[in-house]
Amino acid sequence: MDILLASNNEHKQEEFARLMTPHRILMPKDVGIVFDIEENRSSFTENALLKAITLKALAPRYWVLGDDSGLCVDALDGGPGLQTARYGFEVHNRLMDSEERNAYLLKNMEGFKNRDARFVCALALMISDYRIFTVCEEANGSIAYRASGSEGFGYDPIFIVESKNLTMAELGMKAKDELGHRGKASRMLMELIRSIECRY
Ligand code: IMP
Repeated sequence: MDILLASNNEHKQEEFARLMTPHRILMPKDVGIVFDIEENRSSFTENALLKAITLKALAPRYWVLGDDSGLCVDALDGGPGLQTARYGFEVHNRLMDSEERNAYLLKNMEGFKNRDARFVCALALMISDYRIFTVCEEANGSIAYRASGSEGFGYDPIFIVESKNLTMAELGMKAKDELGHRGKASRMLMELIRSIECRY
């Protein structure tokens, strides 16, 4: 099955391609669509649904996968949370790159002993107007004192995976697929897909 991902993030495409084998993960640009959307809903799942429904209207013949993810830090009252992609925008008046955002988050964590955090991943798979499946999973961990590791993307270098003493970026992709938020959510979705596949 070709599944159209409602995102322009190539790192996510790579992860989903591994996690959802044998399905092929396409991006909007692969089918000639410019996809840009304001994520303005009040939960990860609603944002994932918004992405899926919006792209499905533009590409009705595909199965469409909406993904919304973020980092929730206890010491920051659950932030950056839904604002994870735009973290620091209000201070710097521009979108920062990942390295800058990680440095900004580490600065905001100075002095905090409780560094508990979780990555959240909500997925919405839209097969037809009436068949939409959602899952939402999380990966627990903590915020490191400094960035380390070179694999992955985004906040991976500052997120220490629970029960490991390493960041997601140090552990590498195999461990991220197994222990990470996107891996957990994808496996649940794959079970759902397997259970409905015989109908299509
Ligand atoms: P969105 O899901 O595209 O809205 O992304 C939210 C933000 O979370 C982006 O800034 C990503 O860099 C970050 N993010 C999402 N998933 C991951 C991940 O697996 N590792 C590290 N950062 C992530």
